[in-house]
Amino acid sequence: MINLFHTYIAPTAGEDIQKVLNTGFLSEGETVLQFERALEQQFGFNQCVSVNSGTSALHLALDLAGVQEGDEVILPAQTFVASGLAILYLKAIPVFADIDYFTGNISPASVKEKISSKTKAILPVHWGGYPCDMTELLALAEHHGLKLIEDAAHALGASYKQDPIGSISDFTCFSFQAIKHLSTGDGGAICCKSPNDYKTAKSKRWFGIDREKAPLTELGERAYNISHAGYKYHMNNYAAALGLSNLNGFELRLKKRIQIANQYRSALHQQDGIRLFNYFTDRQSAYWLFGFHVEKRKDFIRKLKSAGIAASVVHQRIDRNSVFGGLTKNLSGQEAFDETQIHIPIHDALSMENAEHIINTIKQGW
Ligand SMILES: *Cc1c(COP(=O)(O)O)cnc(C)c1O
Repeated sequence: MINLFHTYIAPTAGEDIQKVLNTGFLSEGETVLQFERALEQQFGFNQCVSVNSGTSALHLALDLAGVQEGDEVILPAQTFVASGLAILYLKAIPVFADIDYFTGNISPASVKEKISSKTKAILPVHWGGYPCDMTELLALAEHHGLKLIEDAAHALGASYKQDPIGSISDFTCFSFQAIKHLSTGDGGAICCKSPNDYKTAKSKRWFGIDREKAPLTELGERAYNISHAGYKYHMNNYAAALGLSNLNGFELRLKKRIQIANQYRSALHQQDGIRLFNYFTDRQSAYWLFGFHVEKRKDFIRKLKSAGIAASVVHQRIDRNSVFGGLTKNLSGQEAFDETQIHIPIHDALSMENAEHIINTIKQGW
């Protein structure tokens, strides 16, 4: 079976993690700092703080943005539930905006309609790694005094008008969960535009204690006075060691993904029964997914399955979960997207031969 996802683990990972285990220092320390500096350098991020999951990153970013009980946060329903749950953790209200049928990304025009006096932040999701319309979203955020928090769980290595995702808005959140581009087992990161947010993020990820300013006293406890309730969200050293190992060769692996995506695009753009997603060349997708619209979706899935190929909708609109209070009405782009979207395998272990087999199978029809 050609699976939809693959967990990449660098050949040196075992050895690199063993070295950390040998030190006996497993919690947050030097290796975590090294990993953060490496991320900033390799991806051109704003100052970044690593955490123990992408969900923690979203929760902490929303907290740093000042989102409180009763505030509204605008997001797309085309995402994983974590994006919406992080808003609920703060007793804030997720407000679902429509998406562009041709990309799966949040529609700035719909965001504009959803802005109210209670809106505090916009949380776009770069669906499949293809960057949202950041110019329009930044303008809306600025005009209405809102914070912009990107859920970039799919978008490590993507860029928008030459700027890396992770360098653009107030907060950009990444996930290093097992099947994302870069894995630390579980983990995540928040890139912060403001140095002040960066400082607060560093303390809030560890109970609200700033490690660097809390030395051990003679009595044997660190000296601190917690002024805000922080979380237990830091990354640990052996996760960071895995992250550092997996950073090696990342650029090459991403290039290969893009190559496969381009091969899919050129082979399938005139295929009967398929409508590829739009792709504007002012941005570069990180291609965590390769998706498109398809006719007779179930037949398509069955056909691929019979040829040993996985195909999936990955996620359908999250507001179908009762925790979010029922389906949002009048999201026509989202409704249409849900009806026809499908995704085929693209990952680090997918060979060009695999990709050709997938293309040939689709070309046979379904
Ligand atoms: C994976 C993912 C998350 C959550 O990341 P975790 O590291 O699993 O907590 C959030 N949003 C999206 C869109 C994701 O795909």
